[in-house]
Amino acid sequence: MSRAYNFAAGPAALPEPVLRQAQAELLEWGDARASIAEISHRSPEFMRVAAEAEADLRRLLSIPDDYAVLFLAGGATTQQALVALNFAAPGQAADYVVSGHWGKVALKQVQAYVDANVAASGEADGFRDIPPASQWRLSKDAAYLHVTANETIHGVEFRPEWGALPETGDVPLFADFSSSIASEPLDVSKFGLVYAGAQKNLGPVGVTVVIVRRDLLERAGQPRADIFNYASHAKAGSMLNTPPSYNWYLAGLVFKWMLAEGGVVEFARRSAEKARLLYAAIDGSGGFYRNEVASNVRSRMNVPFFLQDDALTAAFLAEAKEAGLLALKGHRVLGGVRASIYNAMPVEGVRALAGFMHEFQQRRG
Ligand SMILES: *Cc1c(COP(=O)(O)O)cnc(C)c1O
Repeated sequence: MSRAYNFAAGPAALPEPVLRQAQAELLEWGDARASIAEISHRSPEFMRVAAEAEADLRRLLSIPDDYAVLFLAGGATTQQALVALNFAAPGQAADYVVSGHWGKVALKQVQAYVDANVAASGEADGFRDIPPASQWRLSKDAAYLHVTANETIHGVEFRPEWGALPETGDVPLFADFSSSIASEPLDVSKFGLVYAGAQKNLGPVGVTVVIVRRDLLERAGQPRADIFNYASHAKAGSMLNTPPSYNWYLAGLVFKWMLAEGGVVEFARRSAEKARLLYAAIDGSGGFYRNEVASNVRSRMNVPFFLQDDALTAAFLAEAKEAGLLALKGHRVLGGVRASIYNAMPVEGVRALAGFMHEFQQRRG
């Protein structure tokens, strides 16, 4: 048996060179004479790992100096609640564009804290499209506008073909980039805050990256414990309490791998190639497979699709697994099939999937 192509949505595939390096270093890191998982987060060894990870991420995403970078526990869902506590006064309006399941979850997290306004929603349409910005109903004096850059379950993503995100003036734009960060260049300066759980594109589950414009950290927000306070985390270098140090280290290895492979420009090229291959396999199947997302917002990261005859889905998944193509079962919200093709998925993996799809159709179509 050998490693298969893993299309899981998250925790997702990690780059094989990163896993090998982690394996080689697991018992003893550098000259620490202990594992990186066993030493203090305040030791000089770990402080070096942490600082390098931050510097590498800043380089990878060209993060401006007036932004703080935090490495936190709690996952993306926790950040969804914390943005309201940190940046909105109690009961203040906050605008949400709901473009899929995760936009809905983000909205749910803040309902106890703010006057959450749904500026636009694709739900009536089954989240197959993103309403154009010209139709968004933004509130006056919103604390922020929240969008989900890529919907991991519904497979919709803000793309250049969709248009530009609106200019929001003094209202900062907050974005959940959990499933598409570092897959293409990002103009961080357009955002007040960007967050991403690591387990899709950045590394292992257990650490979440928050990139926040420093001036926003001065906002009063709402009464909250220190541990829920971004300003306190920033001041403490994300070491207010014990950080998820091993996950931070692994994410750091992924950043180095991405830089060595050519950075986000190269991953944008690979992502475009992978998405092109997979959507072509679906669209060219004469209806045997179908993806229902509007073409100008199709995700490059998560591709949900359905078989014309849903009775064949179970056989498709079982035979794909036999062929070394793992974790293709669609999320329970949608059913069908979903292929997540993040940075760590090589182009050859998607080519193998497209080949399998064609061959399955030949036999069963
Ligand atoms: C996976 C995911 C989340 C939830 O992440 P957790 O780490 O499980 O909290 C939120 N938003 C998006 C876009 C996701 O893909």
